[in-house]
Amino acid sequence: MQISYRPYQLKLKHPFTISGFSRTATPLLLLEIKYQNYTGYGEASMVPYLGETIETATAFLNKIDLNSFNFPFKMDELMAYLDDIAPGLPAIKAAIDIALHDLSGKILDIPCYKIYGAHLAQMPLTSYTLGIDEPAVMLQKANEAIALGFKILKIKLGSNNDKLLINTVRQVTNLPLYVDANQGWQSKHEGLEMVNWLASKGVVLVEQPMLKTNTEGNRYITQHSPIPIIADEAVQRLADVAKAAGSYHGINIKLMKAGGMYEAHLMLQKARQLGLKVMIGCMSETSIATLAAAALAPLCDFVDLDGPFLTTNNPYKTPFFLHGKYILNNNAGLGLIM
Ligand code: MG
Repeated sequence: MQISYRPYQLKLKHPFTISGFSRTATPLLLLEIKYQNYTGYGEASMVPYLGETIETATAFLNKIDLNSFNFPFKMDELMAYLDDIAPGLPAIKAAIDIALHDLSGKILDIPCYKIYGAHLAQMPLTSYTLGIDEPAVMLQKANEAIALGFKILKIKLGSNNDKLLINTVRQVTNLPLYVDANQGWQSKHEGLEMVNWLASKGVVLVEQPMLKTNTEGNRYITQHSPIPIIADEAVQRLADVAKAAGSYHGINIKLMKAGGMYEAHLMLQKARQLGLKVMIGCMSETSIATLAAAALAPLCDFVDLDGPFLTTNNPYKTPFFLHGKYILNNNAGLGLIM
């Protein structure tokens, strides 16, 4: 197995602000694994606040040797091997995992979505995220999303003018809204009041209302909320899923937090056992990681995979998108189109 990779700066269409952070580009590592006559593509998206960098990713790749792994790849052994080399670093592990799934699909001559038994007819609508911005910019972004065909918008809240932002978006659309507070709400009583108000404004779910460490506050909001409350920052990998049960209605799975498709699917199964709803989300990503997540999306309740629409230099063709959802092709592997 031969691994090659290159760093890539993925530029954002709009400077992206969520509760606490703002940025204009995301460092990626684009990776290829060659095995026999096949090439698998993977991607690590390293958003700064999660702590991975091109340097940590490169150092990790220099420590691993995948030559003892042969097809059919045993993903449980592979992930255990990678976790043994170094804990954490889920984005670069996701890049390897995604490339191996792409390879597996190509060797088996099946699309990746079939590996986990997903059915394309069950593909949910994908939301389009609007970062926190001035009202005029929010209006412009909302109109862009509507023009692209999105049927659900996701609004980042957790600033001090949450109601203004929602009212602004409501000037131009009645589409259902998701809200992501990104841990931005300080009081559980005000948080619940806000959730009730948001529900009255056509918001259909809220992500991570309070600090991930504030289990009691998030649980209080969940127990009284009329709409699903979804854990995002509070859930990273498989071991976190059980902790979400009782404190949230569901979890947001992201490949870059989970370490790839294999563990994301384990999280999905665990969530279902616990009666949790499942959202699949993304970071700023090219079509590679978007296609990997989209392969699991039909198994989820909510899909938030707008990466390719929020960036300006995705080196690959954007996956086919119609009436607010991805329509995956039947090519073997991820179905990446150069
Ligand atoms: Mg979130």
